[in-house]
Amino acid sequence: MSIPVIKHVRAFVVRGGGADYHDQGDGHWIDDHICTPMSKYPQYKQSRQSFGINVLGTLVVEVEASDGTVGFAVTTGGELGAFIVEKHLARFVEGAKVTDIEKIWDQMFNGTLYYGRKGIVLNTISGVDLALWDLLGKIRNEPVYEMLGGAVRDELQFYATGARPDLAKKMGFIGGKMPLQYGPSDGEEGLKKTIANLATMRERVGDDFWLMFDCWMSLDLNYATRLAHAAKEYGLKWIEECLPPDDYWGYAELRKQAPKGMMVTTGEHEATRWGFRMLMEMGCCDLIQPDVGWCGGITELIKISALADAHNVLVVPHGSSVYSYHFVITRQNSPFAEFLMMAPKADKVVPMFNPLLLDEPVPVNGRMKSTELDKPGFGVRLNPDCTLTRPYTH
Ligand SMILES: [Mg+2]
Repeated sequence: MSIPVIKHVRAFVVRGGGADYHDQGDGHWIDDHICTPMSKYPQYKQSRQSFGINVLGTLVVEVEASDGTVGFAVTTGGELGAFIVEKHLARFVEGAKVTDIEKIWDQMFNGTLYYGRKGIVLNTISGVDLALWDLLGKIRNEPVYEMLGGAVRDELQFYATGARPDLAKKMGFIGGKMPLQYGPSDGEEGLKKTIANLATMRERVGDDFWLMFDCWMSLDLNYATRLAHAAKEYGLKWIEECLPPDDYWGYAELRKQAPKGMMVTTGEHEATRWGFRMLMEMGCCDLIQPDVGWCGGITELIKISALADAHNVLVVPHGSSVYSYHFVITRQNSPFAEFLMMAPKADKVVPMFNPLLLDEPVPVNGRMKSTELDKPGFGVRLNPDCTLTRPYTH
């Protein structure tokens, strides 16, 4: 059998939304006084853009095969990611067979181990990996989810992340996750405001709708424990990413101290099977939230997910649109998916990577049929109206 080889890999940068979903204009809920590890500095409290959350921008990786087929993927990584792809990773990709995904991943990871391991290097490796899956799907004329073993259910169901769970409920979602707006630097007053806000939301959405808090690494163990217990009477389903990602010991203790039945979740800023192995073997959480564009791509998520299965830990990937959907629908221990509400007021459903992708499916009434994913690869196209720049070549 003649299998095409990869002829070219190219890396581009795009600004304004896309995979770097924090890169939004003024007045967006995602940048409105969200509690972060930088909130202790008054000048960085109101806006995450003020400390540089959108500094990277989107990285677009394109891979072209010898038969002319082009696959691509997007992630957060911008110009630094583009440098790593063009100047370092390209050597492992070009000339390889389009089916060499496992070998390319191993070479990219081990070839960058002396400066990589986590963070932007893993974002970049993820971007290349996802582009390779897209390419292979296009060559085989198969959706990625079919290549992963096929759907285990007919449709995905979603919870919504955003400032307005009450509106998300009306739109058919199964739950709403709110950003935490006050943390340790806001004192007792802040904790009271948080609980009052939760109580208001609980009243608006009724007893059965899930409510969660995303704490974006902003708390300490004592504060997180107090928040979890104060939120118990309002039926908080889970408390997310309370502590810095490296504080495995803190997470293990928080999970012991959290109210029974309330899940402790984390992992959005964790990477690779080894990072998640730490979370699971130390008993840090009930549910992991790897971002497929940051944790190492689909190739690594398969391994992370298998490990989670054996630890009775649920896998509900962070955001990431089609790159998550194609995975979640193939796994029994990923029973639902996240949808980030990217409308500035969280009052309507817009594509998560808006405006960068065309044909990006969105949930309707909080659900998405597997047939929505029935296109080769990840089934999306780059929007030609977005300006791509290629800062480096090789
Ligand atoms: Mg989160």
